[in-house]
Amino acid sequence: MSPLQIRRCRTCSVYTLQENCPRCQAPTGTPHPARFSPEDRYGRYRRALLAKVPAESPPPTPKQ
Ligand SMILES: [Zn+2]
Repeated sequence: MSPLQIRRCRTCSVYTLQENCPRCQAPTGTPHPARFSPEDRYGRYRRALLAKVPAESPPPTPKQ
């Protein structure tokens, strides 16, 4: 027997065992997605990349 899997509504953050949220009826999911790492392993690279891009660079002007 497998234990019941706790699920969480991604809309209103309600924990439930149902596949749909008892409050808003939205489909629920596992609270710990496997593909998300809280350590943010590439965060320093991402921030380094963002630092190289000027924040207030004007958008390219369309040719008329
Ligand atoms: Zn909900």
